[in-house]
Amino acid sequence: MSTGSPVEIPARRGTAVRLRQGQSVRVINTHGQQVVDTWAFRDGDLGEFMSMEHSRVALGRIIPGVGDTMVTNRRQPILTLTEDNSGGIHDTLFAACDRWRYELLGCTGYHDNCTDNLSTALAELGLAPPETPAPLNLFMNIPVIDGNRVEIRPPVSTAGSYVTLRAEVDCIVAFSACPQDVVPINGLALRPTEAHFEVLG
Ligand SMILES: [Zn+2]
Repeated sequence: MSTGSPVEIPARRGTAVRLRQGQSVRVINTHGQQVVDTWAFRDGDLGEFMSMEHSRVALGRIIPGVGDTMVTNRRQPILTLTEDNSGGIHDTLFAACDRWRYELLGCTGYHDNCTDNLSTALAELGLAPPETPAPLNLFMNIPVIDGNRVEIRPPVSTAGSYVTLRAEVDCIVAFSACPQDVVPINGLALRPTEAHFEVLG
């Protein structure tokens, strides 16, 4: 059962939504090439949040698949991936982009970034993140080559494809439509676009 229509995650921006335990959120790659950085924080205690490093331990692999439950920095279940028709390629290795990433890439002025988008999204709920956890980078294609080297490649997802995440606890889920337009994180066109999410249940 849907409790709402799709909500836009504007291009280059972030947004956040509260989920009750048992609710799900469907993250839609509207145009197909847009990475969506995703975070989850326990409602009422933002010091506990979805952790990629702890989730990799729990899952025994670096890319979660359908049925996998991500855990927090206190090793408690927080989000379960219940549907994925995007091709199953996501990233748990790369930090969220930030002003320093863009400075290193040669940007001289301010560049939108996922770290600031997280802060802005939570601020709209009157909250502040305790830090910028490593995100679950939905649709981001970072293959591990020869067991060690990592490469940045365009997403394999297609327009309208989506993943669905179920809340295992009451939590706040934040998204950033990654504004990366220097390297092809968001496709070879280097053109960030909007994405959408929909709360289910
Ligand atoms: Zn980013």
